[in-house]
Amino acid sequence: MSSTVYLVGSGPGDPELLTVKARRLIREADVVLHDKLPGPEIIESIPEGKREDVGKRAGGERTSQEEINHRLVELAREGKRVVRLKGGDPFVFGRGGEELEHLRERGIDVEVVPGVTSALAAPAVFGIPATHRDHASSVSLVTGHEDPTKEESAVDWEALAATGGTIVVLMGVGKLPEYAAALREAGMDPETPVALVEKGTWPEGRAVRGTLETIVSVRDEAGIEPPAVTVIGGVAGLGGEP
Ligand code: SAH
Repeated sequence: MSSTVYLVGSGPGDPELLTVKARRLIREADVVLHDKLPGPEIIESIPEGKREDVGKRAGGERTSQEEINHRLVELAREGKRVVRLKGGDPFVFGRGGEELEHLRERGIDVEVVPGVTSALAAPAVFGIPATHRDHASSVSLVTGHEDPTKEESAVDWEALAATGGTIVVLMGVGKLPEYAAALREAGMDPETPVALVEKGTWPEGRAVRGTLETIVSVRDEAGIEPPAVTVIGGVAGLGGEP
């Protein structure tokens, strides 16, 4: 009999934003498989003997998703108590869904433990609400990883621009120039407020603000790097100076 695998969200990085359940499961685990996203504070709070970093290999290369899936199955079949710790919420752009499918197809029980997603929490700590009665009655979470100039891009920027709601882009630091342009071309006001929140809830977390027009130079001047979320819409102008 294989053991249950716990697919656990770590929250955005502040150890106090780990859920009580996540904390308990980490304590009880034999092995915690993680990458860099939970952040140094949470990772270093896990005893070294039970941590397994699947984010980077010795050569600097990333462990492939296939290898991670394989390792999860292997550990579960050895009867180990496994926590697969993922940044934020395990089912928001974390490939958590793929891991769940892989394990269940092999008859392994999985328990999903939701986490506080960075998509909402990173802006929140800088006073940026995802929705606001005066600014946005919907919020879309999208990946910025896709190339917006690609014919069959999985993200429909034109449709997003038309919602009038808040757009939160994850994995979107590199392709910011492309999707900011795509949204302007789709008719969004160039003066639309945009905020970039880097390492939200980490001790060194910061937010910078601009507009759809200026945000690329704001990013470059500040030297914003991943992990960061981009918030586009009226709410991004709220919260004052960080
Ligand atoms: N499952 C995660 C997201 C994984 S995708 C969640 O729910 O938060 C990875 C992306 O998450 C990063 O590229 C970045 O856009 C975002 N991210 C994760 N942690 C972050 C943080 N502390 N601050 C800002 N963005 C973060």
